[in-house]
Amino acid sequence: MKLVALAGGVGGAKMAYGFAQTLPPHQLTIIVNTGDDFEHFGLYICPDLDTVCYTLAGLANPITGWGRANETWQAMQNIKRLGGPDWFKLGDQDLGTHLERTRRLKQGDRLSEITRDFCRAWGIGPTVLPMSDQPVRTIVETDQGDLPFQEYFVQRRCEPRVRGFRFEGLDQASPAPGTQEALEAADAIVICPSNPWVSIDPILHLFGWRSREETPWFGPRRPPIVAVSPLIAGQAVKGPAAKMFAELGIEPSVLAIVDHYRWLLNGIVVDSSDSEIAKQIKIPTLLTDILMQSAADRIRLAREIMEFIESLS
Ligand code: GDP
Repeated sequence: MKLVALAGGVGGAKMAYGFAQTLPPHQLTIIVNTGDDFEHFGLYICPDLDTVCYTLAGLANPITGWGRANETWQAMQNIKRLGGPDWFKLGDQDLGTHLERTRRLKQGDRLSEITRDFCRAWGIGPTVLPMSDQPVRTIVETDQGDLPFQEYFVQRRCEPRVRGFRFEGLDQASPAPGTQEALEAADAIVICPSNPWVSIDPILHLFGWRSREETPWFGPRRPPIVAVSPLIAGQAVKGPAAKMFAELGIEPSVLAIVDHYRWLLNGIVVDSSDSEIAKQIKIPTLLTDILMQSAADRIRLAREIMEFIESLS
C-alpha cells in the first residue's frame, strides 16, 4: 500500500514512525507542515520537519518529543550569559542542523533537496517532503494582536486567546517537488493526529483543499483519506489544539475533528474512550487506543489504520 501521511511535529512524527516501521520505505511519503518555520539568530529553523526527521532517525528526545536525545546546551547557556534571547531552546546538536540547512539555503539549494540529503545522512528510508520550498508563515490572530506562530506557541506559551489563523505567503508558494506525484500514486492518505488548525490546515490550504467545492483532485482516482484524532476525550494529548477549538467557539471533541475535515474524510480513527460520542459520527470509524506512549503503540496503531483503510475499499 502506497501511503502519504500529512504531518505536523510531535503527533505527526509519532504516527509517521509507526508507518515507517510497518511499510517498505518506498511506499511511504510524509508531507510535513512548514508553516511553523521561522528565522532566529539568522538561522532557518523548521521545527516540524526536524521533529519528524529526528523521530524517524531514532534521534529524537523521547521525553520532550522535540529536539535531540542526549543533547547538550552549551551554546544556549552562552547566549543567555551574553544577554541574548533564550526563549526558543536550541541544543548544540540541533544547532548544527540549522547551521547546515541555512548554509545550503544561502547557496541556493531548495528546502526539499536539503531535507532529502539530511534524510539520507540520517539513514531515513521513507520520503520526507516539506510541504513547500517557499516560505509560508502561520500567523495566530489573538486578543493580544497577531503573533507569528513561534511567538504565540513558545514565547507566549499559547496564553493569548485565539481568534483565527492566516497563512502568509500561500499565494506565492507551491507544493514542493514530489508532493503531487506522491499524492497521485497514493493508495491512501492519512492525516496524522496533528493540530488541525496550525499543523494540517497550512498543508491543506497550500494544496487548495479548503472546501468540498474548492478541493481539486489531480489524479484519475481519489484515494481514501483517513484522519487520526489528535483529541482524546475532548483534550489534546499535548499542545493547544483543544484550547484553540474552544476559543473559536467549537466544543473540542472528535466530532469537531470530523467536522473540521468533513469534505475530505472517508474514515476517522478515534480513541476507545470516545466510543459514546463516536456513535454520532456518520463516516466509517475505527475505535482503538490512539495514545502513542511507546514505539510499540505507534506500530500497532499504524497496522490497525492500514487494516481499516483496506476495509474501506
Ligand atoms: P507540533 O507542531 O509539535 O505541535 O505537532 P503536531 O501538531 O503534530 O502535534 C500536536 C498534536 O498531536 C496535539 O494536538 C496532540 O493532541 C497530538 N498528539 C500528540 N501525541 C499524540 C498521541 O499519542 N496520540 C494522538 N491521538 N494525538 C497525539
